[in-house]
Amino acid sequence: MPTLVTPRNTIEILQKYNFMFQKKFGQNFLIDTHVLDKIIRSAEVTKDDCILEIGPGIGTMTQYLAESAGRVIAVEIDANLIPILKETLAGYDNVTVLHGDILKTDIQKLTEEYNGGRPVKVVANLPYYITTPIIMNLLEGSAPVENITVMVQKEVADRMQTGPGSKDYGALSLAVQYYAEPYIVANVPPNCFMPRPNVGSAVIRLTKRKEPPVQVSDPDLMFRLIRASFNQRRKTLLNGLSNAAELPFSREEVAAALEELGLAAAVRGETLTLAQFAALAEKLGRRRRR
Ligand code: SAM
Repeated sequence: MPTLVTPRNTIEILQKYNFMFQKKFGQNFLIDTHVLDKIIRSAEVTKDDCILEIGPGIGTMTQYLAESAGRVIAVEIDANLIPILKETLAGYDNVTVLHGDILKTDIQKLTEEYNGGRPVKVVANLPYYITTPIIMNLLEGSAPVENITVMVQKEVADRMQTGPGSKDYGALSLAVQYYAEPYIVANVPPNCFMPRPNVGSAVIRLTKRKEPPVQVSDPDLMFRLIRASFNQRRKTLLNGLSNAAELPFSREEVAAALEELGLAAAVRGETLTLAQFAALAEKLGRRRRR
């Protein structure tokens, strides 16, 4: 049975090993059973699943995962946590702890080694300082991933889920929604963690799409257009795209493409849907190929 989740048990094991929290690793450990239950339930963890956990900490969520999943692979960067994990997970023979940086880990290789190349589910209370690179690597990379259920900063969860017209809408929203269907499972207050973070948190589930929701011949161009539009948020799309050093299009080309799409010359990027960015990438891409 999971034993760590109470504040008392957490403090006891931390004191036993003289553990010092490292801010640089985004260490905020979960101490709330309800939140853990909710994460495991919304990730739909079953005994057939192999779970990749990023940053197991002292193993609180890992114990829950080990009870519900077939196998758990947990990647932890902090060497001081490895002996603690050895003790807290000693009762489970379906857990492998790897010491390393998730951003430098070959996740495809892990899935081959531990799950015969079949898709894994990712479940984690993420270190907030690297949320975006972790999520983008999982979405864009070639490793088979079925879904991602993670605790992130509330503001970042909102950015992933929102659409045009919201102040949170941006390049991250569009990238996440191209690859996955986001769903915010729960908001989580700071008192569910030790130590308490300064910000609110949320659990978000990203279900990877089998097919993108829009057809676009050059997704790389579409994402460059998206980034350029949101880099210069206050500018009109026409100014933003024609002034962007990383894009080769003249003002006339951008103006003509916008007109063909029935978009006003003064339109701003933050009002465009993913489908409209895809259509714009098609128009501009075709102009270049002519
Ligand atoms: N899962 C634990 C829990 O919920 O109590 C700990 C979550 S804590 C927010 C984030 C964890 O990620 C810490 O254990 C931290 O050391 C680890 N971590 C930070 N950066 C990492 C990286 N680049 N690769 C792997 N783990 C990392």
